[in-house]
Amino acid sequence: MNEKGKVYLVGAGPGSADLITVRGAELLKTADCIIYDKLANPALLKFARPAAELIHVPKRIGPGSATQDQINNLLVEKANLGLTVVRLKGGDPGIFGRIGEELSALKEAGIDFEIVPGVTAAVAAAESAGIILTDRDYSSQVVFITGREAQGKQKSSINWELLAKFQGTIVFYMAMENLELIAERLIKNGMAEGTPVAVIAEATLPSQRTVRASLKQITEKCEENKIAPPAIVVIGAAADEKLNWLVGKPFFGKTIVITRDAESNVDFAAKIISKGGNPVEFATIKIEPLTQTNIFLQTLTKFSEYDWFIFTSANGASVLFDALQQLGKDARVFASAKIAAIGSETAAKLQQFGIKADFTPSVFTSKELGKQLIAYANLKAKKILLLRSQLASDELSELLSIAGAEVDNVPVYTTAAVKNDPGPVIEKIKNGEIDWLTFTSPSSTRAFFEQIPVELVNSSSVKIASIGPVTSEQLKNLGFEVNVHADEHTADGLLAAIEKIYNL
Ligand code: SAH
Repeated sequence: MNEKGKVYLVGAGPGSADLITVRGAELLKTADCIIYDKLANPALLKFARPAAELIHVPKRIGPGSATQDQINNLLVEKANLGLTVVRLKGGDPGIFGRIGEELSALKEAGIDFEIVPGVTAAVAAAESAGIILTDRDYSSQVVFITGREAQGKQKSSINWELLAKFQGTIVFYMAMENLELIAERLIKNGMAEGTPVAVIAEATLPSQRTVRASLKQITEKCEENKIAPPAIVVIGAAADEKLNWLVGKPFFGKTIVITRDAESNVDFAAKIISKGGNPVEFATIKIEPLTQTNIFLQTLTKFSEYDWFIFTSANGASVLFDALQQLGKDARVFASAKIAAIGSETAAKLQQFGIKADFTPSVFTSKELGKQLIAYANLKAKKILLLRSQLASDELSELLSIAGAEVDNVPVYTTAAVKNDPGPVIEKIKNGEIDWLTFTSPSSTRAFFEQIPVELVNSSSVKIASIGPVTSEQLKNLGFEVNVHADEHTADGLLAAIEKIYNL
């Protein structure tokens, strides 16, 4: 018989994958089997070993449900096989996580276990909405309550009379279905109708939304704004709009659609969130490496012959270094040459791989890169390799050839349009819930408007921001007036240009 394994009940954190604890992430890396909840961010599975077994156990409602029993049995079964099991649960395992039932099953079966805490939704939701749950000036106590027990009177262990008089912050989990009932009960038991309430949905995720209203009006406001679970309800002075610590952020309350490839959208979304905005991710393109092609592989054997390598996008740098890694090579393939990057984003990406770009132009376009590089270095009879997208224009190679360089153009990736469900974005535009559409390349612009009708955007109040002249040209061809052009042609530059509008 196998020696028994161990079960770690790990808090996944409230939503954003980087809010798991270091210990939690380490355990995910070593687990043989990961059994995860609906609320645990699936992005965390990137930590798993390739051989690990991943089992999704969907959310279940009601005590003693067959599914909970099945989960309990599953934990015991896997541990009995001698496996290291991570039971990954949303937020903190011990807060409304039905951990008790799982622990009892493990104890009964004589299986070793350990609980690894996580950031619970109440704390994360409040802080990411600018709410401080306790503050010596207005709330010295906080209470976490389940909103499920507001229904059937008999079983409720909540003392509504006491709660209505509670001098502190009240946080409800799982309260959306019963929000009206909860508000009614509190008011009936003496809580002031004007008590501030904040509801934070999908906290710490890019889709996070917050609505605020008085206790009397909060249900209506949530319905108006179509707020859906998972959401946290904060009741009390702490939820007062006057105490909102996010107000100072430039994009507060602004919803910004981002249209890069999925990987770049993640970084872009993080930048928007850090400025208090609400990004809506709509990946329009995907990056397809061309580093398996004969032409690339042949060129790679001749890298030592080049004087200059030119990167015109961060994607190009990522794809190239992925390929080098797969081929068992590294940055030394560039040893003899100089390297130019089109802008700060590309230079930063190269830096991640240990390469410091020798040259970056002051204006981040292909044309300026060409013009300024010619002024910077004598390129006569120099061999230059452009490591770019297959879709890049000929302008740069032509400029460099005119200056006497011998230019090779080897595409390292191409982009392909990605289809999404356009319904939610169309709906949001129709409802006036989108403030900005952002575009960072002509191909992503085209792919976006193949899915979202041009007329819809044109007849709405949505504003359009473009990263640079080539993208702006594409937007103009589609019939749009671009509201904001980035001065610096990077994601940061684009956001800075939008920010300027609000600081006028
Ligand atoms: N163990 C979890 C809670 C599980 S109960 C924790 O510690 O956070 C599920 C409830 O948690 C949801 O109904 C909702 O009220 C809350 N919740 C979980 N994730 C959330 C999120 N990202 N944003 C808002 N509320 C969330």
